[in-house]
Formats: sequence, structure tokens, C-alpha cells
Amino acid sequence: MAAGGSRNFETETDISLGAFNSNVKTQNLPNRRVTGDKKRHLLVYTTKFVDAFEKWQHFTLTKWQLQNEARRLVGGRLNTCCANSYQKNGSGQVYYSQATNRTFWHGLITCGQVWLCPVCSVKISTRRLQEIKIALDDDKTQWMMMTFTLEHHKGDRLETLIDDLNSSIRKLYQSRVWKNIKKEYGLIGGISGFEIRYSERSGWHPHRHVIFAFERNKEIDAQIASDIRLQAQGVIFKELEKRGYKTVSGVTVKESRQRNDAYITKIANEITLGQDKGSRGSSYSPFQLLELSKQGESWAGEAFKEYAKATKGKQFIRWSAKLKNYFHVAEMTDKEIADKKQDDDARLVVSIPTDSELWKTIRKRHLQGYLLVIAAGAKGDAKALQVYLDSFGR
Ligand SMILES: [Zn+2]
Repeated sequence: MAAGGSRNFETETDISLGAFNSNVKTQNLPNRRVTGDKKRHLLVYTTKFVDAFEKWQHFTLTKWQLQNEARRLVGGRLNTCCANSYQKNGSGQVYYSQATNRTFWHGLITCGQVWLCPVCSVKISTRRLQEIKIALDDDKTQWMMMTFTLEHHKGDRLETLIDDLNSSIRKLYQSRVWKNIKKEYGLIGGISGFEIRYSERSGWHPHRHVIFAFERNKEIDAQIASDIRLQAQGVIFKELEKRGYKTVSGVTVKESRQRNDAYITKIANEITLGQDKGSRGSSYSPFQLLELSKQGESWAGEAFKEYAKATKGKQFIRWSAKLKNYFHVAEMTDKEIADKKQDDDARLVVSIPTDSELWKTIRKRHLQGYLLVIAAGAKGDAKALQVYLDSFGR
């Protein structure tokens, strides 16, 4: 199946909205119920939402707030993300999509940094998720997901862990073992993504998830999957041993036996939402580190800075060339996705010149997320948004 067609890649689905749905402490939203117990590290509440719209409101405010925190910590291109128009004398525009009852900004220069920017990352991940679902959903192929991890300790540098993990996987792909697997089972190629977590107790924990697509000539059942895993593990262990790792957390597999939508979504999420996932015990995703840092936990801010350095220049989701051709997935860079208009049928609600005093106020007070929430709440009614804009002085 080819990518594109009538599929709308740019709608931020509730699937991806789920990314931020837990552990965020305070929002000034109406009708919000907060449950859960106070745990350590201020990441304390589980938020229950009345409906998908409220969840989206919460999520929208959160991602813009976390972008501020990332900007404060890392700076660089985050300083100008969504701050200026593409055009000279241009404007920041709020659009309303009637089909989804959601709003978004358009006309602004983005940073396109999928690892670091919560605003750009959601847009990019949403598109990457849909691309991956096409591959998983295809009935001419079957797939298997392998997750590679390594032994890690508090104090290990993230960059070293990532490099060692990547090198050992590269060695696997170059090995005779892998060439035989390719031939025997009709392996077409893989889609690879990262998941990186941090805990105060044991430091960085990078995983690489790779979905391998196979032709359908021989069924990849649990036995074969396990056999492939053991063979791959043998090569990986040997490589990591050479680099001084004594024990290895391992290689796990999941196969395509369950071909239902929920399972496919789960796998696609696993690979695309590495930065956004909720907390698992006491380990945190990078965007949760931002949340903690925002709440005054300086260790979390330092960890995020290290993460920013370690991921610089690295690709977040990588398709092997053969697989990309097989599924006719259009080449779109992260930046192109971040810049693309989210929904072509959406209508313009308000257009604010980026050289105006009003725009300066919006930026200074970090109101871009709020404006989206208000505009969507008013179902794209320009007058309602104008009343709000007038309320803080023009
Ligand atoms: Zn950005």
C-alpha cells in the first residue's frame, strides 16, 4: 500500500495526544478532575479527562509550556521556534479545523527538532506514526519488532551508551548470521526508533526498537521469532562484551500475530513516542524531565541538557532504504513536517502580524498554547478570540 492518498497525516490523533496525558501537575482548566497519590519527585497526579477535547486542551497547554522549559535549558534553534513568520511583514495565524474541532498555528518558522521541541515533536511523531502504521498494516508482509537494550549504570554518559548500542546493532546487520536470516526468511528491511529514559537511581536507559518487515513466503511464528532473537543476541552480546559490558539487558521480540488495530497502534507508538511516554516506576522520558525541571528539579534539567547533547545530529526514526521504497513512503524531513500546514481544510481564525506589539506580548507571556485552546473552545469564532486578545491590551 502506498503512503499518501486520502490519509490525513497531520491530524494530531488522540493516540499521540495520549503521550502527555499523565503526570502533569497543574493546569488552569475547568472541569478537571485530579486523582492519584503524591509520589516522589513532584510528578504526582494522574489526570482524568472528561473527554477527548479536554485532553487535547491539557495536552496543548502542556506542550507549549514544556517548549518554554526546553528553550530555557537548551536555547539554540528553540529560541526562535514559532516566533517569527516565514514572510517579511508576515503573521502568525491560528487555524480552526471543523472536522476535528482543533486549532493550530501556521505561517511560523519552526525548529523541526524532534528530540528536543515538544511542539515540533508531536507534529513530526504524528506523521511518523501514520507512516509506520502503513507498514504494519500491510497484508503482503509480516513483521517482528526487536528491542535492543544494554547494561547501564548511574553516571554512564548517554552519548557513550547510544554509540555502543548503535555500533553493536550495526555489527549485527553486517554479520553472516544476519545475512542468513535475511535470505532464509525474506527480510525486506527495518524501521528503527529510540526510546530514552532516565532515572535518578540508575541513570540513562536507552532502547532501540526496530520493526523488521518480512515477505510472506514463510510464516514468522513465535518459534522462528525466538530463534532469530537468540541468533541476534549472540552477535550483540559479543560486540558489547568487547566494549566492556559484562551483562546485557537483552533483546526482546514481538511478532505480527495480532493484526488488530490496537496492537498495531501500540507498536507504532512504541517506536515513535520515545520522548513522550508516561513514567514507568521512577524512570522518566525526556519530556517528563522537562516537566520536572519546570517544577524546580535541577537534576532533571541537567539530565535534559545531557540528552540534548547526546542526541544532536542523530536520526529519530530511520527506515532502511529498501523498506521505504517498498512502501512508497514519501521522503519528508522532520523540518518539512514541522512546517507543513496541519489541515488544508481548516479556516483562518486570526492573523497576528509578527512585528506587532500584540505578538510581542503573546510571545513574552507564552500565550501561544492558550490562544489555541481558547480558539478551539469557541469553535473557531474569531470574535471570541478577539475579545480575549483585547483583554490584555493592544
Ligand atoms: Zn520546534
